[in-house]
Amino acid sequence: MNIMKFEDLQINDDIKKAIADMGFEEPSPIQSQSIPVILSGKDVIGQAQTGTGKTAAFSIPVLETVDPEDKSLQAVVLCPTRELAIQVSKEIRKIGKYMHGIKTLPIYGGQPIDRQIKSLKGGVQIVIGTPGRVIDHINRKTLKMDNVKMVILDEADEMLDMGFREDIETIIEKTPEDRQTIFFSATMPKGILDLTKAYQNNPEHIKVVRKELTVPNIKQYYIETRSANKLEVLCRLVDVYNPKLSVVFCNTKRGSDELVSELQARGYFADALHGDLKQTQRDIVMDKFRSGTIDILVATDVAARGIDVDDVEAVFNYDLPQDEEYYVHRIGRTGRAGRNGISFSFVFGKEMRKMRDIEKYTKTKLVKHDIPSIADVEEKKVSAFFKEVKTVIDEGHLAKQLQWIESFCQEAEEDYSSMDVAAALLKLALGEEKQEIIEEKPRERTRERREGRSKGTTGAQEGMVRLFINVGRNQRVQAKDIVGAIAGEAGIPGKLVGTIDIYDKYTFVEVPKQNAKKVLEKMKDIKIKGNKINIEQANRKKK
Ligand code: ADP
Ligand code: MG
Repeated sequence: MNIMKFEDLQINDDIKKAIADMGFEEPSPIQSQSIPVILSGKDVIGQAQTGTGKTAAFSIPVLETVDPEDKSLQAVVLCPTRELAIQVSKEIRKIGKYMHGIKTLPIYGGQPIDRQIKSLKGGVQIVIGTPGRVIDHINRKTLKMDNVKMVILDEADEMLDMGFREDIETIIEKTPEDRQTIFFSATMPKGILDLTKAYQNNPEHIKVVRKELTVPNIKQYYIETRSANKLEVLCRLVDVYNPKLSVVFCNTKRGSDELVSELQARGYFADALHGDLKQTQRDIVMDKFRSGTIDILVATDVAARGIDVDDVEAVFNYDLPQDEEYYVHRIGRTGRAGRNGISFSFVFGKEMRKMRDIEKYTKTKLVKHDIPSIADVEEKKVSAFFKEVKTVIDEGHLAKQLQWIESFCQEAEEDYSSMDVAAALLKLALGEEKQEIIEEKPRERTRERREGRSKGTTGAQEGMVRLFINVGRNQRVQAKDIVGAIAGEAGIPGKLVGTIDIYDKYTFVEVPKQNAKKVLEKMKDIKIKGNKINIEQANRKKK
C-alpha cells in the first residue's frame, strides 16, 4: 500500500486544514493513489469499493484546480441520484471551507429550476448534478460548458445501470476537448470501458488492489444498530462479555475523543490512541492499557497499527473501516498468541453493503448478534457479583457482619428477613439498569407494512400510493434501481420510497401520496436497466 500523508500532497494549506477538521488522519488507498495523478492533469479511472473515500479523491484535486478568480463554470461532477449530488456537494464545501471565492451548487431534478437558475447566475465554478437536470440547464443556456476543465463521473457504473449513458455522452460532448475526464466507480463493466475509449485521453486506471489475507480464528459478529444507539450497545456488550482488554475502532480522531469522554462519563476506564498524540503520550496510553489501568482503548486505524498486546479479548468496529484491509488489521488485534478473540462490527442500513464486501474479501461470514438486553446485562453483572460474594463467604470471618444483620432484623419495626436484607444490599451494590429501549427492528416495519396492505385500496401503506412499473426481475431490476430512478428523476429522497415488490415482469413501489404525481410525470419516459418503462398508479386490489 502506498502510504502517504495529506501533508505530502501538493495541495494548498486551506484544504489541508479543512481535511484535518474533518478528522481524516491519512488518505485512504484510493485517495493516496489517485490524487497526485489527477493533480498532474491526467485522465483517470479510479476503481475502489464503496466507502473507500472516492468522493474526497476527486473533490480535493477539483478544489485545487479550480481558479477562484475565474467565475465561470470549471468543473462538472455527475452523480446518479439527487441524494448523492447533495452528499458530494456537501463534502466539496467542507473540504473547500477555508478557500475564498469558490462557489459550488448541486443541481438535480425535483428542485424548482428557477431557484437553480438564480444561483447559477451568481457565478458557480463547480456544479454537481444528476445528468437529466444538467442537460436541462445546458439547453436553457443556464450552464455554459465552454470553460469546463474537469468532468467527473461519480459512481459511473450506477449511472450506466440507470440508463444515463446517452445523457452522459451529450454532456461530455458539450465540454472542451482538452478537458480532464475522470471516472470513479466501484466496478468496471464494459460500458465504462466504452466511455473511456470514446472520451478519455490515455487514462490511467487506478485500481485499489488488495492482498489476499486470511483472518485468524476470531469469532466475528455484526450488530445492527443506528448511530444514536452505538454507545449504549457498546456498553452493554462490554458489560456482558467483560473482556479483559478491548480495542474500539473509530474512523476519526474526533470520534474517538468523543467516545472516550462518553465512556469515561459512564464510569469505564477508557482512553484514546490517535495520530494527534505525541509519541510520549502514546507510550503512556499504551502502558496504561498493557497494565490494565485502562481496559478500553479507543483507537483510529493509523494509531492502532502498532498495537501488540496479547490480552485484547475483544475488538469493536464502532465505525466500519474505510477499507477491507483495515478490517483485517483491526480484528487482528485480538486472538493473538493462540488466545480466543471476538469482534463486533456495528452496522446499519446502507453499511450492510460495505459489510458484505468485507465478507467477500475475508472469505468469512459475519454472524448476526442481537443487541444484549437489559436483562442480559443484569444477569451477567449479578452472576459476576455472586462469584465475589462466594469468595467472601468462603474466606469466612463474617461474625461481626452476621451480628449486625441479626440485630437490624430484630430491631426493625417491620418484619424483615435476612433475605430482604440481602436483596436490598444487592440492589445497593449493583444499582438498577435504566430501561433504555433500543432494540433495532428495521425489518419488522416492512412486515407491518405488508400486513397493513390488505386494508388499503391499492394495498398501499397509509399516506402512500402504490405504483406499477412494467419492468421486473426478468430485466434484472433490483430495488436499488427503482430507488435510484425515483431519487434521480423525481428527486424524492430514497428513504421516502416505501415497500418495493419486484416480480418477474413488473414491480410495485410505494411513494408518498404528495410525491406520486411528480414521480409519474418525471418517470414517464425514462429507462431502467436500459428498458424504456411505463409507470402508472396500481389498480385497486380485488376484494
Ligand atoms: P465512496 O464514494 O468510495 O463510497 P465516500 O467518499 O462516500 O466513499 O467516503 C465514505 C466515508 O469515509 C465518508 O464518511 C467520508 O467522510 C469518509 N472518509 C473519506 N476519506 C477519509 C479519510 N481519508 N479518513 C477518514 N475518513 C474518510
Ligand atoms: Mg461515492
